[in-house]
Amino acid sequence: MFAEDILRQFTAEATGFINDPSRLDQLLADAEEQLRKIPHVGETLAGLPIVISMVKSWVKREYEVQPKVLATIVAAFLYLVKGKDLIPDKIPIVGMTDDIAVLGLALKFVEPELNAYRAWRDGTAPATEAGEEPAKAAKAPITIKAVKLYENGFMTQPFAMGGEGAEGLDPSVRYRSSLQNYVIDTGSEVILVDTGMPDGMPNQVPDEKTAIYMGTRIQDYLDALKAVGYTPENVSKILVTHKHADHTGLLAAFPMATIYASPEEAQAQELALPNVTAVAYKDGPYYNFPASEKIADGVYYLPAKGHTTGNSIVIVEDGGLFYMLHGDVTYTDEALYANRLSVVFEDVAAARATLDQVREFISAHPTVYLSTHTPLGVENLENKAVIDLNNPPESIPPTEVAAAEATGRYICSVCGYVYDPAEHDGIAFDALPDDWKCPRCKQGKDKFGAA
Ligand SMILES: [Zn+2]
Ligand SMILES: [Zn+2]
Repeated sequence: MFAEDILRQFTAEATGFINDPSRLDQLLADAEEQLRKIPHVGETLAGLPIVISMVKSWVKREYEVQPKVLATIVAAFLYLVKGKDLIPDKIPIVGMTDDIAVLGLALKFVEPELNAYRAWRDGTAPATEAGEEPAKAAKAPITIKAVKLYENGFMTQPFAMGGEGAEGLDPSVRYRSSLQNYVIDTGSEVILVDTGMPDGMPNQVPDEKTAIYMGTRIQDYLDALKAVGYTPENVSKILVTHKHADHTGLLAAFPMATIYASPEEAQAQELALPNVTAVAYKDGPYYNFPASEKIADGVYYLPAKGHTTGNSIVIVEDGGLFYMLHGDVTYTDEALYANRLSVVFEDVAAARATLDQVREFISAHPTVYLSTHTPLGVENLENKAVIDLNNPPESIPPTEVAAAEATGRYICSVCGYVYDPAEHDGIAFDALPDDWKCPRCKQGKDKFGAA
């Protein structure tokens, strides 16, 4: 029997993939891609999506699969993905029919295991015949949209890359900046990652000393959310990356949603709301990240400490890609490529460990990096651009900032506090002592920009 020979042919090579999660992961993604190209997969192969899901559960160590079963599945996928080049000439291959025969045989082998997996996945649902798995079992695609708040800003190189020291960095080199958060629509629920700046913040007026200028406001958060199709009533969950005002500004507008935050951030004044839940990260390691919590199918919340001690990131798995939604792991992608920390507020050592983990993950998995403070976040999302750390794209310079009339007011880039000389006996911001601190968040003068 030809199909059997073919499977045997690939079983030895399968071991190499089983021992290397990142290779296995890539193989699964490639197999999914390949399966999309087989027209009329039909009833024989309708169980394949659940096979892929079972192997993914095994990779994440949430489900045990017998080595023999795993080897058979991986061998079948190996054949599917690269078989045409590797089969010796003496075995006649005549195209799609053989794909179906080989995969069908593999499915038959693993059928009892598949039924057990299905029952485990569905709770206690009774097992059904493998061949009866309806095509709709394939997961609906997840949609991610950018909620755009500010555009055409800039940040200086020391701000973008000076988290571990600014030596050699040039304040006259600037990178583009913006502000946007993200919405994840799983098809069954709407999940926000952060909720923008508080409404009505005065516009910043940049000068030559400004380290970060977020740009001009496009619109307030709720209007920006509406522009991508959602109102607060649609939102069931909010994942907070960290406590800073530009990530938590409108939390109070979502009293019906569950707000997820790390235990540290859940204590912060910005998150003092009854619907905040401290996440225990109870679901164990996620690839090379030590801890995680599954928020929804394909949506994971992971600790990423440093920028703040309770910083977290979100990873969304969809269509063979990993979307990494983060607060301020880096302020701009240029820092990610250069392996430099952006400005860190609370724990530089933890921020370094986090950036190492993030870069390790990105090296091993096709990742779309979705940042908050650079338009690259929006562009990466629109293009589904997978980060290749060894091939940074050319950095686009920021647009010239139009000079605006300064008001004498200064605004804290961390907490949004506005210093107005009129409320301080007419003392100009520049005249304040160098060790003056923000009365709200205790950051220094350098974190303030003219408004
Ligand atoms: Zn921040
Ligand atoms: Zn931020």
